[in-house]
Amino acid sequence: MSEHKDFIRDIIASDLAAGKNEGRVVTRFPPEPNGYLHIGHAKSICLNFGVAAENSGGICHLRFDDTNPTKEEVEYAESIMEDVKWLGFVWGDKLFYASDYFERFYEYAEQLIKLELAYVCDLSADEIRQYRGTLTEPGRDSPYRSRSITENLDLFRRMRAGEFSEGSHVLRAKIDMASPNLNMRDPAIYRIKKSSHHRTGDKWCIYPMYDFAHCLSDAIEGITHSLCTLEFQDHRPLYNWFLEKLQTRHRPRQIEFSRLNLTYTVMSKRKLLQLVEEQLVEGWDDPRMLTISGLRRRGCPPGAIRAFCAMIGISKKDSRIDMGVLENCMREELNESAPRALGILRPLKLIIDNYPEQEEEELEAMNHPKKPEMGKRMVPFCRELYIEESDFLADAPRKFFRLTPGREVRLRFAYLVTCKGIEKNEATGELEVHCTYDPASRGGSAPDGRKVKGTIHWVSARHGIKAQVRLYDRLFKEEDPESGVDDFKTNLNPASLEILTNCILEPSLGQAAAGKHYQFERQGYFYTDPQDHKPGQPVFNRTVSLRDSWNKRK
Ligand code: ATP
Ligand code: MG
Repeated sequence: MSEHKDFIRDIIASDLAAGKNEGRVVTRFPPEPNGYLHIGHAKSICLNFGVAAENSGGICHLRFDDTNPTKEEVEYAESIMEDVKWLGFVWGDKLFYASDYFERFYEYAEQLIKLELAYVCDLSADEIRQYRGTLTEPGRDSPYRSRSITENLDLFRRMRAGEFSEGSHVLRAKIDMASPNLNMRDPAIYRIKKSSHHRTGDKWCIYPMYDFAHCLSDAIEGITHSLCTLEFQDHRPLYNWFLEKLQTRHRPRQIEFSRLNLTYTVMSKRKLLQLVEEQLVEGWDDPRMLTISGLRRRGCPPGAIRAFCAMIGISKKDSRIDMGVLENCMREELNESAPRALGILRPLKLIIDNYPEQEEEELEAMNHPKKPEMGKRMVPFCRELYIEESDFLADAPRKFFRLTPGREVRLRFAYLVTCKGIEKNEATGELEVHCTYDPASRGGSAPDGRKVKGTIHWVSARHGIKAQVRLYDRLFKEEDPESGVDDFKTNLNPASLEILTNCILEPSLGQAAAGKHYQFERQGYFYTDPQDHKPGQPVFNRTVSLRDSWNKRK
């Protein structure tokens, strides 16, 4: 886990040193099951589960903040559990649902009424807004603010019983309509909503507001440190007000940190949902989406996400992290772990004129240049090969260390070849580069020690297998897709997906299972698509290229 210290870890350490919370550290990750998790959530997951793991006896709860009844929540809840697990975190038996506390929230609400700290208000939503005032003007008291305890209890119970229509009544906290903090101007704590809930069915037709339910959920579960993003800073006085007035046994401490923002993407679930619903991507797990499931399908290993979150750290400063930082974390992890392979994305025929037509041989190839323990494999070689189109230039500059007439290059793991030229095969219409090889250079070095600078990759035309390769790039073409436009979707990158169907890969990949990582030498990291790849029908996703081409473009 991360040894990076930050202000939150410092606070927790000093709380422990001061003997607070009987020495317990209990955090929670509280997703609302209304969408799939994204990389921003990963920051919160790594922080909450990380802090718990770093402190002996520390615990992190997974709590579904499911106080708002909406459709399809089961699918979302399941995806959230899968994602947290995949990221490598374990909640054990600490799985909770805020909806399990509905009865207790209700009792707390009655208690507030009995303390004369809550009242049923009949103003409409619009009127409530008008009465609220502004940042510069105080609000006005609701005409219903002075209802008696008995009347409030009666009305609130009838709200629960379903006697009133949606929007006709709300229960509000009685705090201070002149407070400089708008959140303290008699906020709503219960509203009527006649929709069924995916866990409680039709048992309830009133549902608690976030600010009321969240602090109480934390208190009920004995959370010690409630870590959330900065937009909740102004809600903290309300968080504390509820717990103090209700005299809860546990008094969790809310601490805010800045959200993760990334360049070239949007982050909010609402916007990601738009992309899915308008079919601008193929689903929540489209590999271009910065959702956890999209990253997983693209081939990003969970360790790269954890490393990324540790690297960016935790602070109160808002910032936008360069997408390149995340991509580099993927490269770093995959560079260590991905076996190497030879794959041609845009094939060009290479014919070795002096290699016997019928002959073929097997050459030894390292699975990882720096890790002999990852073993070796044999790759077949013969007279006709495929090379990458971009590795040949008819008219090349001096510094082009690839194939051009008269120049000698090394075929990776194989031989030195000298380019003779390019011709069109009249029978097939195919362009063919011709060369001769030095039979004494098997393995790739010349017996006379002459220097050959360039090395290119290749695949035997006779043995190679065909594959589909999906080249994914950034989903948006602007660093901040939301700035300066009415609709962020106008900034979608039209080149974010290129599907190549004529790729030729070394035959060992013919039996690759779905969900495996490879480095195609000189190209990047690729991942057999978990859904569409089948042995014999290979589909590879490009996880990330070997180098950052975006920074070069800038
Ligand atoms: P979004 O704004 O994307 O819709 P949300 O905040 O509504 O996300 P929740 O399910 O409520 O999503 O979030 C669960 C937890 O994840 C919360 O504690 C929230 O603060 C945290 N979280 C959400 N987005 C980010 C982010 N970009 N960076 C860090 N933490 C985040
Ligand atoms: Mg939210």
